[in-house]
Amino acid sequence: MEQTLWHNVLGEIELLVPKASFEALFRETKLGRLNGSQVEIIVGNIFIEAQLERRWKKTILDILVKNGLKNPEVSFVIDSRKRDPVSREVTRLSEQTTPTSVASPLVHRAAQVTKRSSQSSTGLNPRYTFDSFIVGSSNDFAYSAAQAVTKDPGAKYNPLFLYSGVGLGKTHLMQAIGNEIVTTQPNLRVLYVTSETFIKEFLDAIRFKKDFSSKYRDVDVLIIDDMQFIAGKEKTQEEFFHTFNDLHQRNKQIIISSDRPPKDIPTLTERLRSRFEWGMTIDIQMPDFETRCAILDTKASASGVQLDQSTVQFLANSFRTNIRELEGALNNLLAYAEVRNVPPSLETAKGLLANVKATRPRHVTTRQVVIKTAAHFQISLEDIVSPKRSREIVIPRQVAMYLLRSELHLSFPKIASELNRKDHTTAIHAIEKIEKEIKLNPLIREDINTIRQVLYQ
Ligand code: ADP
Ligand code: MG
Repeated sequence: MEQTLWHNVLGEIELLVPKASFEALFRETKLGRLNGSQVEIIVGNIFIEAQLERRWKKTILDILVKNGLKNPEVSFVIDSRKRDPVSREVTRLSEQTTPTSVASPLVHRAAQVTKRSSQSSTGLNPRYTFDSFIVGSSNDFAYSAAQAVTKDPGAKYNPLFLYSGVGLGKTHLMQAIGNEIVTTQPNLRVLYVTSETFIKEFLDAIRFKKDFSSKYRDVDVLIIDDMQFIAGKEKTQEEFFHTFNDLHQRNKQIIISSDRPPKDIPTLTERLRSRFEWGMTIDIQMPDFETRCAILDTKASASGVQLDQSTVQFLANSFRTNIRELEGALNNLLAYAEVRNVPPSLETAKGLLANVKATRPRHVTTRQVVIKTAAHFQISLEDIVSPKRSREIVIPRQVAMYLLRSELHLSFPKIASELNRKDHTTAIHAIEKIEKEIKLNPLIREDINTIRQVLYQ
């Protein structure tokens, strides 16, 4: 009976959460003690515990209520089979907790789906907020400008042009502006795209004679990320020039990012360059030591982990030029600690980094990435570039795309063609999916770490 309740709950959760998260977090959970309204859920490790506690507890509680439990309280317990088999005994479930029908969750689910799709039409990722953006001397100017734009879009700093090296927070900050506007001024239409999407949609519009300009002109805030990819694409630049003028004349806010200032983007037409320089051009510098420590502290505690200051300082000293890499090192440490069941201590961090550092010379090729990824997952090279869509092949293929981006910084169209895909949006989706997965699933992080290590050996 008890496990039936939990089965029903799981069945409903499966409808609500992304498949990969369900597999990683929920599949192996079991019901532990059930004492009146107190529900104990047995989980595999503290990583899963932290994720469930932080992100899914409310959902679990809601579903328990729907299944007849009054004012339930949930606690997560790490599987103690190895240590203490007795503690797994479960108590009886009282009669009134009989599972109820499963029809109602569908309604709930429909509501969730609509909510999600309206979010995605803005192109924004809700994860990037001002709250989670750490401000320091390297980015406070950009942060203040972003705040000003958010309060009064289109009024000043138009366009806002942000530039910096990779992994220093451009995407995060631009999306934070978008997310904040969507929340505080819901009547305004916000659209976030990368310049690669803009280029692709423009070319498709020509090829298939589709309407193009209304999507981009019918907005109040247009955010274009990684504008440098427009270099050399004259027709697209011309189209963007018109879009820009149209929006600017109507006081619509334009926000642009690039890996370098307008004057250094090669083959940018002069008139577009001068437009970009009309508003405010701001760079984000490399973060100083304090900021790097603050980022690590914040991100670790968001994962439910408190790190020693010595560990934080060690990581902060090891990654000075790229916050994505800093975050990556932290995630590796946390994943390693979880999977091996050791503390994320200074020693562990040093051990992990020794591996990475010693093996970092950059002469990895595109082909090696694909071959080593296929080999790691024990599938053939033919399969990884084939049209096959079974899970055992799709996941390695997506990981290969992710690595081509993270290690070699290839463009999406190039990544797609390396894996024999026609459409570069396949690469975008694959990479986004793996990025999400990495946050949730320690096993996939391990896979990626292992492949990286093999690549740099
Ligand atoms: P860019 O677009 O400049 O390459 P991103 O915005 O993608 O960089 O940032 C890389 C990663 O670092 C993201 O996960 C982002 O959330 C994180 N990050 C960057 N800057 C900050 C910051 N100031 N505070 C917290 N996280 C940050
Ligand atoms: Mg970016």
